[in-house]
Amino acid sequence: MFGGSAAAVALKNRPTHGIRIRPGLSNATPARYDFGMQLSDNDAKYLGLAIEQAELGWNEGGVPIGAVLVHHSKDGDKVLAVGRNQRVQMGSAIRHGETDCLENAGRLPASVYRECTLYTTLSPCTMCAGTAILYDIPRIVIGENRSFQASEEWLRSKGTELVVADDATCIGLMDRMMTERPEIWAEDIGVETSDLRENSADAHTTTA
Ligand SMILES: [Zn+2]
Repeated sequence: MFGGSAAAVALKNRPTHGIRIRPGLSNATPARYDFGMQLSDNDAKYLGLAIEQAELGWNEGGVPIGAVLVHHSKDGDKVLAVGRNQRVQMGSAIRHGETDCLENAGRLPASVYRECTLYTTLSPCTMCAGTAILYDIPRIVIGENRSFQASEEWLRSKGTELVVADDATCIGLMDRMMTERPEIWAEDIGVETSDLRENSADAHTTTA
C-alpha cells in the first residue's frame, strides 16, 4: 500500500502480518510522520467524526477509539451511526469503537452494509475485523496502525479495501493512553499490562 523504496525503508520495523502491539512511548507527544495515504475530503471529514468520538471516550475515562459507519448511495453519503469504545464506560467486553458503532446503527439489510465505509481511528482488532467481514463491509478507513495491527492482512484477503491515514491525532490519542492508562489498553486487547512491558523490549512488535 505504500510504494517506493523510501517507504519500504521507513516501514522496515512494521511487520506485514500478525499482531503488532506498541507498548507505549517514552514521549507522549505525537510525532508527525511523512507517509500515509492521502484522504479524500469526505474520508477526512468522516474520520474526523471518528476522532471526535475517540476524544469523547477519552474524556469519559475510556479507551480513545472511535468509529463511524457511512452509507454511500446515489443520493449521497449518509452517516448511519457513530460509536466509541465503551469498555470502561459500560463495563462491556465487546463494545470496541467499531462494534459500538455497528450496534448503534442497529439492524441493517445486508445490501446496506455492502455499500458502507467503516471509519475507525485505530486498525481493527480481530473481533471488529470479523464483524466487518461478516457483514461484507467493503471498505475501512483506518486512522492509524502504528499502535496496533492485527487484522489487515486478513481483511485484505477477504477483499476489503483498507485506507490507512497514519493520522497524527489518532496516534497521539493512543500514545497518551499507553502512557497514562496502559492498564485499560492491555485489557482492551486481551493482554496483561505486564505483557505490554515485556513487549517494549521487542521493537514494538509481537507476531502471533
Ligand atoms: Zn476491536
